[in-house]
Amino acid sequence: MKTMGIILKTEKQIETIRRSGQAATATLQRMGEAVKPGVATSELDRIARKMIRGFGGTSSFLGYRPTFHPPFPATICASINDEIVHGIPSPRRTVAEGDILSLDFAMIIDGYHGDTAFTFPVGRVSPEAQRLLDVTRASVFKGIEEAKPGNRIGDIGHAVQKHAESHGFSVVRDLCGHGIGRSLWEEPQVPNHGSPQRGIRLKPGMVIAIEPMVCAGAHRIRVLDDEWTTSTADGRLSAHFEHTVAILSDGPEILTENPDLWGSNGLPG
Ligand code: MG
Repeated sequence: MKTMGIILKTEKQIETIRRSGQAATATLQRMGEAVKPGVATSELDRIARKMIRGFGGTSSFLGYRPTFHPPFPATICASINDEIVHGIPSPRRTVAEGDILSLDFAMIIDGYHGDTAFTFPVGRVSPEAQRLLDVTRASVFKGIEEAKPGNRIGDIGHAVQKHAESHGFSVVRDLCGHGIGRSLWEEPQVPNHGSPQRGIRLKPGMVIAIEPMVCAGAHRIRVLDDEWTTSTADGRLSAHFEHTVAILSDGPEILTENPDLWGSNGLPG
């Protein structure tokens, strides 16, 4: 069923996205266990490819080609420190003690995408980096709490923005979350900033990816010469966390929920 370009999902379709979402978060967790000083981002990509095969799924990202970009050449996005999103894995990109590493991963099972991201500390990180991780992670849940029928899309962005900015951070404006289903990117766009009670009204059956990108400094971005990697313009740290969420009649359900990775209530676990 379609309303204004937004594809509402049946219970059965949501069940399929739950399966791809659970496979995606299990893969993300496995990659996270391998994050340590010296690991190459290509090694994490290899782990993801192997996990996808084990689940009998396919990659959402490999070969993905929106307008104005070359096809994405890998299975995961691995973005280090000031890189916000869309970093390309490479044997030459290794992480060091004190780095933060954002891993974004989506996969398809039975035709439906599940999409999730998490920023991992590499060994011991600075107090500011840890605070950025904690605030960004919590901001996802601030957004999710607003993902319920009767609210509007702006309620989600407002809650995310308010939480991030109240801690002295900024939210990226030029990139946003999205509807998800048979396509990785569907309507509606889900901004991480906004005003309460503005934008489209949320309805049961919508499935959206809520994915705040929060910056220690200013929110301005720049895209590197590889035409994918997106960094903060000021070179300061950025973190990215993402859940795929179904809007049900009684509220949100996190389809990529994983207490072992996220903690039981989204607080540091
Ligand atoms: Mg996404």
